[in-house]
Amino acid sequence: MSRFWSPFVKDLVPYVPGEQPKVENLVKLNTNENPYGPSPKVIEAIRAELNDSLRLYPAPNADALKATIADYYGVDTTQVFVGNGSDEVLAHIFHGLFQHGRPLLFPDITYSFYPVYCGLYGIEPKPQALAEDFSLRVEDYRQPNGGIIFPNPNAPTGVLLGLEQIEQIVQANPDSVVVVDEAYVDFGGETAISLVERYDNLLVTQTLSKSRSLAGLRVGLAVGHPDLIEALERIKNSFNSYPLDRLAIVGAVAAFEDHDWFDHTRKAVIASRDKLTAELQGMGFEVLPSAANFVFTRHPQHDAALLAHGLREHRVIVRHFKLPRIEQFLRITIGNEAQNKALVAALKLLL
Ligand code: PMP
Repeated sequence: MSRFWSPFVKDLVPYVPGEQPKVENLVKLNTNENPYGPSPKVIEAIRAELNDSLRLYPAPNADALKATIADYYGVDTTQVFVGNGSDEVLAHIFHGLFQHGRPLLFPDITYSFYPVYCGLYGIEPKPQALAEDFSLRVEDYRQPNGGIIFPNPNAPTGVLLGLEQIEQIVQANPDSVVVVDEAYVDFGGETAISLVERYDNLLVTQTLSKSRSLAGLRVGLAVGHPDLIEALERIKNSFNSYPLDRLAIVGAVAAFEDHDWFDHTRKAVIASRDKLTAELQGMGFEVLPSAANFVFTRHPQHDAALLAHGLREHRVIVRHFKLPRIEQFLRITIGNEAQNKALVAALKLLL
């Protein structure tokens, strides 16, 4: 700690991202990246942009990307916001759209960045316990609040909430912004973007890090009522008026335009998830129903920390959270066929 640290910095509890070790000789199944890589058209588009134009600032509003996303989802460009990964989009939402001085509701087992943003922006977190089966209890989201956020499917559980229940939460809270974080929605969920036309308090966020395999490019987005988007633009422009660099803009546009690659790789992940789930169950694991590109699983006879440690010795890295209620679970990203095979082989040696 330095004498230059303010009390604010001293009290900050930052997010700890999953480990990013060198991937050579490692089966890396710990941070929900996509094993298939981005569309070749993304690489082509980025290569084509690697020229003298890099000396120029990018478009301040990333208009080309907003137009592509608006077209893709059948909304207006005034309903689209983009940022440097959905983490940054979420940061702006916490900064400006949740009411300070009133509690923010979110599930008690969820994306661990939410409480971190609460700390950063002075928002009171009010986590709500999940049901026995790890599903979200809609009735808990009918109490006074200054905002609501939850991932759908939830992370790290993978459990999906239906659109009707999301709509019930949105309807029950007309004076709060309800944010549905759809980081993993393309692996089996249904997007709530279809509801934004009807509700001015609903904001949906997505990322290109998972289903479009561009975690390294850092592109995220939000879709909602133009007034909510305008608020996010004001915050963004007070912070950094260029949301995305030139390479990210052209790469993200190409990713949305390559429907075939998206569909093919997404379906491959879903098929692998179903296969891996059956294999894990065959070994005695309990696996929560997942609509994401990972599974959340425990073995009734084996300690999760020991399993994670043992897998590591076999050069397979998965995620283990030392948190109440889920400390016996492992979160395993769906890999390609060879990676999943290596995982299963290593587990067989450990059981
Ligand atoms: N939301 C959830 C639920 C996540 O798991 C992640 C990935 N860690 C994010 C948002 C952020 O993704 P990104 O910043 O890569 O868009």
